[in-house]
Amino acid sequence: MNSDGIRPLLEVRDLVKHFKVGAGTVHAVDGVSFSIMEGETLGLVGESGCGKSTTGRVLIRLTDATSGSVTYQGQDILALNKPKMTAMRREMQIIFQDPFSSIDPRKTVGDTIGKPLYIHHIGTKREREERIDHLMELVGLSSRLYNKYPHELDGGRRQRVGIARALALSPRFIVCDEPVSALDVSIQAQILNLLEELQDTMGLTYLFVSHDLSVIKHLSNRIAVMYLGKIVELSPSLDLFKNTLHPYAQALLSAVPVAKLRRTRERIILTGGVPSPINPPSGCRFHTRCRHKTPICSEQEPRLLDAGNNHFVACHLAHR
Ligand code: SF4
Repeated sequence: MNSDGIRPLLEVRDLVKHFKVGAGTVHAVDGVSFSIMEGETLGLVGESGCGKSTTGRVLIRLTDATSGSVTYQGQDILALNKPKMTAMRREMQIIFQDPFSSIDPRKTVGDTIGKPLYIHHIGTKREREERIDHLMELVGLSSRLYNKYPHELDGGRRQRVGIARALALSPRFIVCDEPVSALDVSIQAQILNLLEELQDTMGLTYLFVSHDLSVIKHLSNRIAVMYLGKIVELSPSLDLFKNTLHPYAQALLSAVPVAKLRRTRERIILTGGVPSPINPPSGCRFHTRCRHKTPICSEQEPRLLDAGNNHFVACHLAHR
């Protein structure tokens, strides 16, 4: 429960996802904890391979967790059996990054959007058609596209099909997994605005995954920054941009373009590549690239602690 007495819709505790690769183990997600309040958007940002998309997929059990818990309205969904998880899927959906690869090219727009209704045996054929018409209108797709195939649509319309399909079962929680990164910049804002409107009208809760802080900023109430399987900073969105505490988050933020007449920002270039998640660095996982590191950084892992005003950071420097 937060300070306003509101219970989270979703609570994640010590979530771990490891993959076996040959003789090694990829530490994709390594003990992340956070909550998402009803109606909130939590942005999850980090470089490619940091574990953010895996976190989103584990939350809705598209892939199984190694350990930890995900509690949705008091139920540990990682412990649900198959029939109960199938029923839970009506509440939790995902919008994928690449609508072209997530949509069956042999299915029409209508069939794609209606598939979840068909799988869950919802309504008669006529009722499903009416629901599909309604969903198409909701996401701004003309009804004349009902019998078109994915290759006949542009990227923006294909993503609208993906969004309509995610909404078909009237979910409350949606993982938006890089939903605009495969789209032209001119289309990105339209899709972000649509997601915002749908959240307002349908009371949706989002986990919004992106590598791009400027995209995340647009929608998120709070933002979590991930690095090599760990959350290193978690803060209300405005506060993260005004008062960035973690050196990795500072570097990410420095790459976001700022309007010409606003304050200038020093660009922080990170040296060295992202270390392998098969053998992550000891102590603070960022120490191999951090310009502020001290001897303790490679020895002791910093905990994610509140630095004030619900602004959490995992850095020895910030808690001195
Ligand atoms: Fe840098 Fe040390 Fe902070 Fe890690 S704990 S971010 S290495 S200063």
